[in-house]
Amino acid sequence: MRKPIIAGNWKMNKTHEEAVSFIEDIKEKVPAGSKVDTVVCAPALFLKSMNDASEGSDVAVGAQTMHFEDNGAFTGEISPEALADLSIPYVIIGHSERREMFNETDDSVNKKLHAAFNHKLVPIMCCGETLEERESDKTESVVRGQVEKGFAGLSKEQAAQVVVAYEPIWAIGTGKSSTAKDANETCGTIRRILSELYDQETAEAVRIQYGGSVKPENIGGYMAMEHIDGALVGGASLKPDAFLQLVEAGS
Ligand code: 13P
Repeated sequence: MRKPIIAGNWKMNKTHEEAVSFIEDIKEKVPAGSKVDTVVCAPALFLKSMNDASEGSDVAVGAQTMHFEDNGAFTGEISPEALADLSIPYVIIGHSERREMFNETDDSVNKKLHAAFNHKLVPIMCCGETLEERESDKTESVVRGQVEKGFAGLSKEQAAQVVVAYEPIWAIGTGKSSTAKDANETCGTIRRILSELYDQETAEAVRIQYGGSVKPENIGGYMAMEHIDGALVGGASLKPDAFLQLVEAGS
């Protein structure tokens, strides 16, 4: 059985002090040996302090992006080697905001997935269609392209460890969430694509999250679905109480 994974994506929010006190606030409340993986993806500046604050708890932290090269002349970028050196376990790769605003492509996503595995980081790879693509029935071909190109060259063992976050772009930060049924259908499509690329066993092992206006009031519907193994949550992950409710709903 796949272990559910609830991840917050804070995006560019909070101060260092707020970030650390969030972890201190929730860490006692996430039960040890919890049935769900709990992850908070925060701005890179806060990761070391948050990781230190979470020590001994079941709360893990993650970066929101990284470069695919270990080091070099890449002003402002985040090194996968540096993340691994700080024992940061997770990294989001290819979020639609990075694809749209920071020139992330399927090719750079693919290189970053390989870099993540080189450094034993667990990648949360995002995919999803725009409203226009959905309305012109292109959802399957869009996610197929993103998944096929993103996973290119990964072994079965690596593929099984990727967390895929299906985030329809029109549902991000809009309050217009996908219905659980529609989200499940596309997550099922992603699993089918993975079974074609690898095999059924590998596809069954991959955890697929839904993301896009998830909140405590609607998460139950997604978690009840066959192909949805968790959520990647923006706005509703910023408040400790709401985030804890999401984690509880995931277990
Ligand atoms: P919201 O939950 O704010 O819609 O954001 C979703 C998201 O982009 C998570 O990565």
